[in-house]
Amino acid sequence: MKLAQCMSRLGTETAFEVLARAKALEAQGRDIIHLEIGEPDFTTPANIIEAGVAALRRGETHYTPSAGILPLREAIAAEVSRTRGIPVSPDEVVVTPGGKPIMFFTILALAEPGTEVIYPNPGFPIYESMINFTGAKAVPVPLREEKDFRFDVQELLDKVTPQTRLIIINSPHNPTGSVLTRADLQAIAEAAQKHDFMILSDEIYIRILYEGEHVSIASFPGMKERTIILDGFSKTYAMTGWRLGYGVMPPALATQISRLMTNSNSCTATFTQYAGLEALQGPQDESYKMVAAFKERRDVIVDGLNRIPGIRCVRPKGAFYVFPNIQGTGMKSKPFADYLLEKAGVAALSGTSFGAYGEGYVRFSYANSVENIRRALERIADAVDKLPKA
Ligand code: PLP
Repeated sequence: MKLAQCMSRLGTETAFEVLARAKALEAQGRDIIHLEIGEPDFTTPANIIEAGVAALRRGETHYTPSAGILPLREAIAAEVSRTRGIPVSPDEVVVTPGGKPIMFFTILALAEPGTEVIYPNPGFPIYESMINFTGAKAVPVPLREEKDFRFDVQELLDKVTPQTRLIIINSPHNPTGSVLTRADLQAIAEAAQKHDFMILSDEIYIRILYEGEHVSIASFPGMKERTIILDGFSKTYAMTGWRLGYGVMPPALATQISRLMTNSNSCTATFTQYAGLEALQGPQDESYKMVAAFKERRDVIVDGLNRIPGIRCVRPKGAFYVFPNIQGTGMKSKPFADYLLEKAGVAALSGTSFGAYGEGYVRFSYANSVENIRRALERIADAVDKLPKA
């Protein structure tokens, strides 16, 4: 079999591989604490489940328009208008099976050989994977602990060339939990207009924010025309397995992304879209309760990690991940994550799963109970204590 060359450039998401290894250990009888996978441990709120089931029972079992049903696109337009402070119309919304396809389709639609795409490193691994897949040049911008894992804006701007077609930003950020400031966004927005490139703004963790308010780059003057907002239901409503997300973008691009939907999925599952409508229009208290629980867990894990000699952890402002520096243990990231899984029964991801600049760090997802987080901290402290002293 001869595969297309582009397949050799496609990366992956290590979280799924580590999850499989952790499950294999569990099958052998080991007790594993899961801090690897990036999904809320809560179940989808009952009103949303009921809406999905009711849609199925009413016979909502047929195709929908590729961009999604109009009531959902209207509800998304209203939600994005409210949360970002910009006018949004339903023809600017494309509903997809999860937020991830918006990443896939946007990069496919804009990047090509001879163009460059700037993206955060460490960052969600699919950005780099998809840029490489298209044959465009992947241009990483390091996120450093000294800057609380925000871009150094000048460093980012220095990477802009006439070939820059797209810049990807993600705030609150996976894997570090960092949040970009208004000043950061302002500088990127000015550069986008001066040098004529687009922004993919991954705002999937918009609601999981513990301090300050969310600012979208799309809300800066002249930026709505240049921005694709990626958002979805997986994190905000604990709906990872339903597969429901969306993009908000200029209508001309929405037409193209809808065509990619027609060519791939046809449409997002119909009952899922009705569940999403209930998520947006129904009570929001369950979702906010989750955020409050995540905040408590953040403090438990950050304080606990900072008490372990050799580990140092920035307190993130959003998302449900911590990205502690483990250099003081004397180990590299990947062997350290392997050691935690094999010896301590704690599943985590190596910082390098998020790019080369993740060396020296690991990612823990704290979408787990406080009790399990405390047990994991004890195990990590014990495992680190057993390492040979430098
Ligand atoms: N963007 C970021 C930064 C993520 O961490 C994730 C999921 O982990 C996604 C997008 C996609 O989520 P989904 O496709 O489940 O909506």
